[in-house]
Amino acid sequence: MSQRALSVPGEAASGVRRRRLGLLIQFVAGALSVVFALRIFGQVDRFAVVWPVSAVCTALLLPRWPLEWRSRFKFAAASIVGVLTGGLAVAMPLWFAAILAGLTGMDVAISCLVMGSTIHCFDDLKRTPNLARFGIACVLAPALTAALGAVPVSGFLHEPVLRTLLMSMLGNSVGMTLLLPLVLFFHDAEYRNVAANLKQKSVRRSAAAATGIFLAAVVFTFTQNFGPFLFMVFPPLIFLVLLTGLEGAMFASCWVTIVGWMATIHGHGPVWLTRSASAEQRLVVLQIFIWVFAATALPIGAMLDERRRAEKKADEARSIYQKLLQNADDMIVLSSLDGTERYVSPAVQKLTGWTPDEYLALDRLSTVHQEDMEIATKMIAGLTQGQTEQTIRYRLMQKNGDARWVQAAIRAYGHSAESNVVGYVGTVRDISVLKEKEETWERERTRMAAEHRRMADLARTDPLTGLLNRRGLGDELRAPQRRQSRKSLAFLMLDVDCFKKYNDALGHQAGDECLEKLAEIFKARITRHGDLVARMGGEEFAIVLPGTDVKGARKVAGDILEAIRAEAIPHPDSSFGIITVSIGVTCSGESPVDLGALIRDADEALYASKKNGRNQISVKEAAAMLMTA
Ligand code: GH3
Ligand code: MG
Ligand code: MG
Repeated sequence: MSQRALSVPGEAASGVRRRRLGLLIQFVAGALSVVFALRIFGQVDRFAVVWPVSAVCTALLLPRWPLEWRSRFKFAAASIVGVLTGGLAVAMPLWFAAILAGLTGMDVAISCLVMGSTIHCFDDLKRTPNLARFGIACVLAPALTAALGAVPVSGFLHEPVLRTLLMSMLGNSVGMTLLLPLVLFFHDAEYRNVAANLKQKSVRRSAAAATGIFLAAVVFTFTQNFGPFLFMVFPPLIFLVLLTGLEGAMFASCWVTIVGWMATIHGHGPVWLTRSASAEQRLVVLQIFIWVFAATALPIGAMLDERRRAEKKADEARSIYQKLLQNADDMIVLSSLDGTERYVSPAVQKLTGWTPDEYLALDRLSTVHQEDMEIATKMIAGLTQGQTEQTIRYRLMQKNGDARWVQAAIRAYGHSAESNVVGYVGTVRDISVLKEKEETWERERTRMAAEHRRMADLARTDPLTGLLNRRGLGDELRAPQRRQSRKSLAFLMLDVDCFKKYNDALGHQAGDECLEKLAEIFKARITRHGDLVARMGGEEFAIVLPGTDVKGARKVAGDILEAIRAEAIPHPDSSFGIITVSIGVTCSGESPVDLGALIRDADEALYASKKNGRNQISVKEAAAMLMTA
């Protein structure tokens, strides 16, 4: 059995336990918030300054909103039953407790529908769009609920419907604004982050000073009775929020609420300056003040936090890029096409010897080797014409006057709004070692190719005479350009007469020298382009005369016999007294020929020459063989 399979029941059990605990918390929070609202902030038949019930239930439900609908309903139901129980606990009649529970359910549902898709934790409030949703929920849900609940609640409290509507809406809205962030703050244990942030002594000091001044300003504002100095709390508030963000704004709002409410119910503070006002009117003024205060402080705090987070992210990204640039071996260059905006990474020093500042002070093209200037200017021209990527190799000049081979991968960039290129970023890499290797490889390749050619030539050449050997002749005749011109090709086979006897009489060395001389004679006679002379082996030679007919071949053969006769190489054991050769001639005529057959025919003709007394030419044509002395 797999470990996963084993662990699943345990995980499932702990999940169920957690969920049950969550439901219990939702229930207890609903009940307790009703009790607190009516016992502390008001009484059963009075309006509360801050109505916390919907805020607490919504704040506890939001983190669970990503769950499936069944679970959402369960948690919402736990809240509603909690509110009902709380209502009964403070001796509310059942029908009114049920109405209160129903209205809370509606309030929570509207709030969750507005915020549930994006707000699940305290930090989610620190985004402008989420803040807007929070603001909408704080106004919309209390307004709709108050509109629906005004008639039954006014009946229960024996208050006019309009006043009930206004008071319950304000109390609920203030409750949402103040307590929803507060409950999320504690639910997510955000105080740990606050504590971590306060570890720095300087931060702690300034936060403590700002908090002290703010607390004192609020206490002063609400305990004095000689002026409407409500506005006095705003300067220290801004100071505090600038330092502490949304968290500070939230606690400042709570502090204003507590101090404002306590002072007001004890007959102190600016709210009492409107002497003709009723108790409810004072309450409304206080609620509106708290609401305006929170609506000022919270968005500023959240937006500051959002900006701070963005700055932190940007700082982190900048530091990563900085590290990358600082530690990259490649030199990163950025330049606008006109050369006004330029950057180069620190690797430039390793690559050129110039510091980044020295390098940037140079003219762009002065860092390119004179011989590579064309490549560089072409590259820049290509970019201006819309090419987006290029890779070039050039010699980068060094501070000490040397040059180093580099490869630059260039990529064009433009303003994101426009498509035209305004500059380029280049990654310049040292390829001097690679280049050296490439040059060595190139030299080696050329040497190997030459060697290969030499070996091939050797294999095709007869070492004694320097003529083509049999294989060389075969290759030549098979070469495609020769295949084209096989028409009327004449083939001569030549064999030295009585050469064995020559060797026997004068020695092998003299024999070799004789063969060399004969080869020279053949070469001297065969001068036309395309003609070939080869040593077929031993004392046998072949001559190929493309585009030559029998008459022409016979003429060449006659010239050769004449030339050998003129050379008059003495042969002690020959009846002619000098070296002679016998020649067999054949010709392909005008039609394409079978090369093998051509050689066979020439051999046959040669045999005829030998048989007829040597030192002569015989011809074998395709149809008939003519013999001539
Ligand atoms: P024929 O007139 O019938 O051609 O008689 P031949 O003696 O020339 O013919 P044969 O085939 O009997 O002998 C060829 C001789 O050529 C044998 C060998 O001694 C000689 N020979 C072959 N290759 C070489 C060589 O490379 N150098 C020298 N010195 N002699 C060679
Ligand atoms: Mg022979
Ligand atoms: Mg011979």
